[in-house]
Amino acid sequence: KMGLQQNDSIIFESIEKERKRQHQTLELIASENFVSEDVLEAMGSVMTNKYAEGYPGRRYYGGCEYVDVAETIAIERLTKLFGAKYANVQPHSGAQANLAVFYALLQPGDKVMGMNLSHGGHLTHGSPVSISGKWFEIISYGVREDTQLIDYDELEAIAVKEKPKLIIAGASAYPRTIDFARFREIADQVGAKFMVDMAHIAGLVAAGLHPSPIPYADVVTSTTHKTLRGPRGGVVLTNDEEMIKAINKAIFPGIQGGPLMHIIAAKAVAFREALQPSFKEYGQQVIANAAALGEALKKEGATLVSGGTDNHIVLLDLRPWNLTGKAAEKLLEEAGITVNKNTIPYDPQSPFVTSGIRMGTAALTTRGMRQDEMVKIGETIAAVLKSNGDNGVIEKAKETTKEICGTFPLFKQAVTV
Ligand code: PLP
Repeated sequence: KMGLQQNDSIIFESIEKERKRQHQTLELIASENFVSEDVLEAMGSVMTNKYAEGYPGRRYYGGCEYVDVAETIAIERLTKLFGAKYANVQPHSGAQANLAVFYALLQPGDKVMGMNLSHGGHLTHGSPVSISGKWFEIISYGVREDTQLIDYDELEAIAVKEKPKLIIAGASAYPRTIDFARFREIADQVGAKFMVDMAHIAGLVAAGLHPSPIPYADVVTSTTHKTLRGPRGGVVLTNDEEMIKAINKAIFPGIQGGPLMHIIAAKAVAFREALQPSFKEYGQQVIANAAALGEALKKEGATLVSGGTDNHIVLLDLRPWNLTGKAAEKLLEEAGITVNKNTIPYDPQSPFVTSGIRMGTAALTTRGMRQDEMVKIGETIAAVLKSNGDNGVIEKAKETTKEICGTFPLFKQAVTV
């Protein structure tokens, strides 16, 4: 034994057990992924030691020549990846990226339009429990009850009536393509700024598999750790020179202090990976896998929100099976399948119970799984959810999980606990 294992065994063990959990379970949480060894290496590097308040070439600390290289390259690769003129790679998270936009563009009390959390929007787009909902007057839009697709006509009518200062597009649980051009038209009609939070779909946008928001939005935010498969963190992109000046000021010194230089180095590594032709194949497989998973579930009688998927997300409506999201999440966890409970549009249950589960294929696709595995997993999920907790069914599902995980090893390094 040496290093962390010897000096701090409780933390070492928690990390090793987490490694084992990631290897031995089927990770279907739609916001997660598995980063490469190179990304991990950059994250675990000495760049964590460095203070670098400011921006490359304009720092408030000495000794920044090498972190400047990493941040400059991160910005160059990110702007190339999305075809944008300017970027800020310092946000510590997606929530920070969004807060920076609000801080740059809005005053407390301003009107903001965002997608309803219970229809698939994100907390930071105006939920009353988030700073966005506390500091701004939030007008929310949602999906139609019949199609479960964003109701653009209603969105337009609300925007015309309310005249928001900012309109936000983007979601955490929306399985369909978002029409950024339509959003832009509506924003122009009412003189609103238009922000897109592409956190979930960023990897698909990078691969050219979802329309890019860059030509339409005044400003685009994203996380880097979902379909984009980088370290946990956030970014902001724009084509507008005045906008990037305001965003840069809003990130630092507005809402953050020193940037996480090890994370920025790891972002640069992930952006290079996303620029490779193989990343496009990865994105195509993510989408093909989500379609296969959705179809397999439908064949078993499952009800999908919006009837299917265009992206990496499959949202299951559990009401026809008389299950709550909370119960379903727990049953699947017993079988080694990780999902999260999620509200569905017009959900009769509370956000803590919910009537849905959200699944995504970004992580399992990184493990190398394809349509055949998705069909097997879909059948297994359906069997577990229809089992009434029957032990035999769950045991059988556990075996399937184990067998699939064994066929697609996740880490080179063996688990030691
Ligand atoms: N925006 C969207 C659309 C998200 O789905 C998420 C994360 O779930 C975030 C922002 C927040 O990102 P973070 O968890 O890094 O703060």
